[in-house]
Amino acid sequence: MPIRYEECGQAEYDLLNQLISEKFRELVNAKFRLFFDLKKHISQGSIVLAQIFMSDELTRLLTVDEATMESGADYCIMLDAKLWRDIDDVLKRRILFHEIQHCNFDAESKRPYKIRGHEIEGFFAEVEFNADNPTWKSEAAELLRAMYEQEKDDK
Ligand SMILES: [Zn+2]
Repeated sequence: MPIRYEECGQAEYDLLNQLISEKFRELVNAKFRLFFDLKKHISQGSIVLAQIFMSDELTRLLTVDEATMESGADYCIMLDAKLWRDIDDVLKRRILFHEIQHCNFDAESKRPYKIRGHEIEGFFAEVEFNADNPTWKSEAAELLRAMYEQEKDDK
């Protein structure tokens, strides 16, 4: 059976790092690993565009960079592979911006990189970031739903 996740490439890390250096200075030292999710994922009735996790101890071990012996990832972000292949950088940035908003930096903690839930249906800062297209998320969800429908028809 094929593995559900695939490593992302340099392009995804470039987009992420650019956003972090522009808008999330408190996270410049956080370690992220990006993966494509090859499987359709529904959560609470909605199709999932992307997801972020705080690494557990096993994930930390498995994401240690063997070349540099750098410590493992603080966060893992999963991107829907099918959607990602079909969208432009503007939408990719919206999706990544949303996921990074889930990061909650707690300087006092031994494990300072935590996760937070939504403030509204998303995050206050997102409203401004996406002011030019407030309905981007439902549009992207609709697009992805249609893509999976199409795939079903093709089979
Ligand atoms: Zn979210």
